[in-house]
Order: sequence, then C-alpha cells, then structure tokens
Amino acid sequence: MSLPTQARVVIVGGGIAGCSTAYHLALQGERDVLLLEQGRLTCGTTWHAAGLVGQMRPNRNMTRMSKYGIELYSTLEAETGLATGWKACGSVNVARTPERWMVLQKQAALARSFGVEVQLITPQEAGDLYPVMRTDDLQGAIWIPGDGKANPADLCMSLAKGARNRGAVSYTHLAWCSSPAKRCRCRRCCLPTCCTKPACRRRCCRSSPATRSRSPA
Ligand SMILES: Cc1cc2nc3c(=O)[nH]c(=O)nc-3n(C[C@H](O)[C@H](O)[C@H](O)COP(=O)(O)OP(=O)(O)OC[C@H]3O[C@@H](n4cnc5c(N)ncnc54)[C@H](O)[C@@H]3O)c2cc1C
Repeated sequence: MSLPTQARVVIVGGGIAGCSTAYHLALQGERDVLLLEQGRLTCGTTWHAAGLVGQMRPNRNMTRMSKYGIELYSTLEAETGLATGWKACGSVNVARTPERWMVLQKQAALARSFGVEVQLITPQEAGDLYPVMRTDDLQGAIWIPGDGKANPADLCMSLAKGARNRGAVSYTHLAWCSSPAKRCRCRRCCLPTCCTKPACRRRCCRSSPATRSRSPA
C-alpha cells in the first residue's frame, strides 16, 4: 500500500482532535486531507475518556464550542450511520463547602449569561436526580439539563467516517516522525515515517504496514 506523496493537509494523530479536524475540514469542502495514525483510530487518550460533555465553561467561546459539540453529537449518527453514544442525561454539580457553593453560583451565573440553561437546586433535589448520592453534607447544587455524555471512541469513528464520506483519507498503523536523522527507505511507502529512535522503529512501516482505512475510517 503506497501512501500519497503529498496532501494539502496532513493531520497527525487519529484521536478526537485529529478526527474532528479532518471532519470539519472536509465539511468545509477541503478534499485533500490525509490523517495519519500510528496505531488504530482512537487508540490514544480518547479511548480512555469518560465522555462527559458539559457546557459550563470558563468563557463564551468555549461554551459556544461545547454547545456546538452537543448539537453535532446528537445529529452525527443520522449523517454517518455510526452511533456517537450521545445521551442528554443532564449533569449535577455539587458543593459541600460554602466557598465551593459560592464558586458554583458564580459559574452558574456566567453560564446563564452565555445562554446555557442552568438551575440552582437544593441538596434534596440533587438527591432526587441522583439517588445514590449522599446529600446531607451538601450546601447546594446546580443542574444543567442540556449536558450529557458521549462515547468518545464511537464519536471519533463517526467523525472519521463523516470525513471519509466527504473525501478525506486516513491511514492507520503509521507513525509520523519529524526527525530528519534517518528517513525510511522502504519501498512500500514514500513518507519519512521512521527515524533511528527505538520507539519509532517499532512503528516503522516495515514492521507494521500502513493501512488505508476502509470502514469506518
Ligand atoms: C466526548 C468526549 C468527552 C470527554 N470527556 C472527558 C472527561 O469527562 N474528562 C476528561 O478528563 N477528559 C475528557 N475528554 C478528553 C479526553 O480525555 C482526551 O483529552 C482527548 O480525547 C484527547 O484527544 P486527542 O485527540 O488530543 O489525543 P489522543 O486521543 O491521545 O490522540 C492522539 C493520537 O495521535 C497518535 N500519535 C501520536 N504520535 C503520533 C505520531 N508520531 N504519528 C502518528 N500518530 C501519532 C496517537 O496514537 C493517538 O491516537 C473527552 C473527550 C471526548 C471526545
């Protein structure tokens, strides 16, 4: 399997950042996108992520991005056919000390000013929403009904498929190394994929041939 010798955009890393970048570039009409991943898509930290998606962020732009993410996660499956595991279950943030309660109230006011629906609730109401939680030591809590959770690995695959449907291409089992020390001389690929570092050698295309993704990414 030979790799393209050039692309207008090369993305290194097939975690959520790489797959989302590929998806959004493709969405904007960029067809010449190449995503390189040394292992399998999602094999990095994305695979371990809890998947919580909260809208209460420290500034307006991060809040807008989080709100956009929620819209995307709830509609992406219809576009790609791959589930994202999105569940709009809402979130409860609790405060045990008066100081923490003050911080939460400030954060709630800020989030509200950014257009997020936030409710201040009593410890008892928090307990009703999450019955396994101890509430007798709480000062208060906030409830954000629009928050939820996704499955980060599934979401990544869904984004990668969306990118691929729009013309982006991804190759897995291929490490990019910027070290100019030694270039790969293997005839199976034409990218500088390995150097003399042992970690790179293990991922060299000689020992682990690049795989052009077929499905879902
Ligand atoms: C829906 C969702 C919810 C989340 N919820 C939480 C949460 O509740 N709490 C929390 O703490 N975090 C959460 N996160 C964030 C998560 O923990 C990680 O921070 C995030 O997924 C990291 O993504 P990444 O793409 O930056 O990195 P990674 O997933 O690590 O991707 C990087 C990729 O690059 C590849 N790579 C590295 N070097 C090379 C190379 N030289 N050549 C080729 N490939 C290479 C790696 O193999 C890896 O696959 C969430 C993420 C998502 C998507």
